[in-house]
Amino acid sequence: MFPFTYTKAADTRAAVAAGQRGGRFIAGGTTLVDLMRETVERPDTVVDISGLPLGEITTTRSGGVRIGALVRMSDAAADRRVRNTFPVISQALELSASAQLRNMATIGGNIMQRTRCTYFRDVSAACNKRAPGSGCAALEGFNRSHAILGGSSQCVATHPSDVAVAFAALEASVHLLGPDGERGVPFTEFLLRPGNTPEREHALRPGELITAVEIPAHPRPLRSGYLKVRDRQSYEFALTSAAVALHLGGGVVRAAKVAAGGVGTVPWKLTAVEQRLLGERPSDRLWTAAAAVAADDAEPLAHNEFKVELLKRTVERQLRVVGGTR
Ligand code: SF4
Repeated sequence: MFPFTYTKAADTRAAVAAGQRGGRFIAGGTTLVDLMRETVERPDTVVDISGLPLGEITTTRSGGVRIGALVRMSDAAADRRVRNTFPVISQALELSASAQLRNMATIGGNIMQRTRCTYFRDVSAACNKRAPGSGCAALEGFNRSHAILGGSSQCVATHPSDVAVAFAALEASVHLLGPDGERGVPFTEFLLRPGNTPEREHALRPGELITAVEIPAHPRPLRSGYLKVRDRQSYEFALTSAAVALHLGGGVVRAAKVAAGGVGTVPWKLTAVEQRLLGERPSDRLWTAAAAVAADDAEPLAHNEFKVELLKRTVERQLRVVGGTR
């Protein structure tokens, strides 16, 4: 370890001020402490925000759900409003990490967690995300778990969160508090693709604090669910995943919200799949045809060509499950 200063924020204003001075926010600590132990992250100051009043789940006036940034993953997954309205969120959370980690980690921390690329966590390896300009060991190295969508010549690391995939599918927004006040950012714009600046991973400005994630109301009844495909059935990150939400009415698909995980540098909204579903009658043939376009933009690497077919099958299976024709 290395020396650093620890402070505890008394309120949100103090947290923002400390963040502006370069402090790193910490709550559950399940990601940052690991990275500090491995010296991947070396903050001078750690600002403990765990005492801030950001731990509430509320129903919005329009019928959406607002989850405070400091709500624990396990509490969000078990919340009756979340379970009843958006089971895809509960399922994504329950398929993440371990029970112990879910009891500690927060919603805000979950979406801010950093990639599991092994080269990123090996300080002796070239990594543009950790050390800009140093190169990317994964491009020429072992890249089985890396992205087939949204990568660049600088970085091809996947975003590891499961619940972020559900948030992307449901078109959630991230609420922020910063030196200039409050603002909201669409979830699909909050996490950034690597481009030429893979070290920039999110839309937060200096000092900004995530206060909540809000999921808007969707037409009801909304069926939804999350499927995660991985090398082992617990405590493992996704090779592919699919978050699916469907509103069926009058015998056709009236609304379709679909996103994929484990395949993109950010949670990947599958707009083409959604478009293919709208207005069509649910059937096995429809699920297959819609899922067939899921990987149209894929650019597989040397060791992850298998993800192209796996993504299509993951999406198809989850459409079948949620759509009710399995
Ligand atoms: Fe670093 Fe990204 Fe390359 Fe991994 S894929 S080594 S995180 S630059």
